[in-house]
Amino acid sequence: MPIPRQPTIVSRRFTPLKGSFPWLLPIVLVLLFLAILIWLPWQAQRMEANERQEQLIADTLWVEQALQFQFTRNQENLSLIGQEFINKPGEATTLNERLRLFATSNHEIQQLALFDKHQQLIVGTLSALNEQNQRETLRQSYLQLPELQLQSSKSQCLRTTAQSNITKDSMICRFPILLNGEVAGNLFATYRLQTLLDETVPWWFAQENEITLLDADEKVIAKRTAGGPGKNVYTHNRALELPQLSFTLHTNSIKTEPKLLSNLLVLSVVLLSLGLVWSLIALWRDINRRLRAEGALRKEAAFRAAMENSLVTGLRARDMEGRLTYVNPSFCNMIGVPAEELVGRLPPMPYWAPEVKEEYEQRFAQILTGTVQPEAYETIYQRANGERFPVLIHESPLVDEHGKQTGWMSSILDVSELKRAEELSRQHEEKLHANARLATMGEMASMLAHELNQPLAAISSYTTGALNLLEQQGSDPSLLHAALEKARAQAQRAGQVIKSVHEFVRKRETARVPLQLEELLHSVMPLVELQAHSAHIHVQLDIEARLPTVLADKVLLEQVVLNLTRNAIEAMQNTPFEQRQLQIIARQIPGEASGFDTTPRVQIQIIDRGHGISQEIAESLFSPFFSTKSSGMGMGLNICRTAIEFHGGNLSHRANPQGGTIFEFSLAASTSTET
Ligand code: ADP
Repeated sequence: MPIPRQPTIVSRRFTPLKGSFPWLLPIVLVLLFLAILIWLPWQAQRMEANERQEQLIADTLWVEQALQFQFTRNQENLSLIGQEFINKPGEATTLNERLRLFATSNHEIQQLALFDKHQQLIVGTLSALNEQNQRETLRQSYLQLPELQLQSSKSQCLRTTAQSNITKDSMICRFPILLNGEVAGNLFATYRLQTLLDETVPWWFAQENEITLLDADEKVIAKRTAGGPGKNVYTHNRALELPQLSFTLHTNSIKTEPKLLSNLLVLSVVLLSLGLVWSLIALWRDINRRLRAEGALRKEAAFRAAMENSLVTGLRARDMEGRLTYVNPSFCNMIGVPAEELVGRLPPMPYWAPEVKEEYEQRFAQILTGTVQPEAYETIYQRANGERFPVLIHESPLVDEHGKQTGWMSSILDVSELKRAEELSRQHEEKLHANARLATMGEMASMLAHELNQPLAAISSYTTGALNLLEQQGSDPSLLHAALEKARAQAQRAGQVIKSVHEFVRKRETARVPLQLEELLHSVMPLVELQAHSAHIHVQLDIEARLPTVLADKVLLEQVVLNLTRNAIEAMQNTPFEQRQLQIIARQIPGEASGFDTTPRVQIQIIDRGHGISQEIAESLFSPFFSTKSSGMGMGLNICRTAIEFHGGNLSHRANPQGGTIFEFSLAASTSTET
């Protein structure tokens, strides 16, 4: 099975040879090899040439020996016949025959003559002439030779062409016939040197060599070229020593130098060299390809190792028997067991919690038999220290290159942190709900406290007025009635406030009805003026004619206007009297040009000439319980903004160019269907 690589990548780079010139040694070796391959045939050629030369020398020696032998044998035979002549002169006829026979059987001998010690011709082989002439001719041929030493007991050979009957390739030899150590006669033999060569040199030698006999002056005396002329490549000179005469036997082989290219060895060397070069190139290419593949593999391995090491998910591979074949570092860290102790291990595994063992075994058996498709499941694992932790496991089959399943690859996610976070989030949510409930209650209490302040204060002042009237004798009962009527109205208002705040805080749909803002403003004006009057503030109400109606909760909107006007009045406590002016403006403005809602809106502005709002205060203006006043609750603006947003509007403020502040909000004009 394709066992996944262990994350520890051992980078073992393939280097043909270490050092800065890795190719130097192979190249040198190859060059050396080629040099030897080239040198070998050359050497072989040289050896062959030497062999031929040596062979020629040996053969020449053999030929010289053969010539010598032939000459010596002739000499001995002739001397023997000569002695017999001297000893038995009576048998001259027989001996003469023997001499003739000898000359006939030895073609190299052209002529023979035997003289006694008185230089009288005993017998000669010139039979064509008459005897007298013959004797004279022989006498002239031999006895008048200048260098002749007739009394010498040693044989003597001469080269002479002076005599007419001696051809130029001839040689005359004198063999003394000794009797009791004394020269008793001389036997002369004329040799045909050309015939000597032709007869004595064996044919096989003559076929391969040009044989020349040279005299002392290097003149050619005889030549045999049966196999053709010599090539002057292999030559040898050998002295042919005859009694008192020496020749040079020159042999010249007809063989040329061994041809290099025709040599089978050379051919095989060339082929071998070509094969070697070709295989080297192929090897070079193969190595390059391997190096490239290895580089890519190493890169991929490094990438995979980095990827596997960076994974927080544990990875585990098992074969079909459940044996662990691979674990990544994250998995080892998760369970606290090193990879060496895990890889190759069969179930039960060290990370199996004993209490869940049965479940593991059952699941694995099912996976192996294929009765269940592997899918993500949660289980419990055990760390090396015995700690249990929840894991989420995904299994997927491992398939080899033939498509055969060889095991399983699993990704294991330690979900203990996730579970902890889920638990924390649940607890947090519960707390939030509790807080929200508390906050709602608190908000409601604050709003009630804030909003009831005004009606209660008004009731208190009306009832105080009523009591004062009662105490005054003869006071007008209608005044008392009016004061009590107003107190009752404020009490009813307080009741409505409570109801409306309650609804609002619980975020229920409040009673939004089409309202004429003009009416609404007029209804709150008495209360506004009551407060303004006591603060010596002039109130100016500017309401545009024919304002469209808006869909709103009347009580909430009244509270907003009352809160904003009260803040404006309180802000002008230190404003010079002549500037104490509160302006309330209501007008229609177009819908948002940029937005989708183009419904016209009605805008309300509360403008004062008070102390204004600094940047610092502006930042926390709408925060609950933020107040700069000693007796302030800091809830007014917060409630106002919530109420306006609840109506789909937006409460904002900006500085009044004349000094003071402008608070403003707008509400969408209600459409006919809504009204
Ligand atoms: P409270 O009136 O109880 O202080 P608010 O939420 O109504 O609470 O107002 C918060 C603060 O905003 C005020 O204490 C005041 O400092 C500032 N403020 C509100 N309206 C104005 C105004 N028209 N001019 C100047 N300051 C204002």
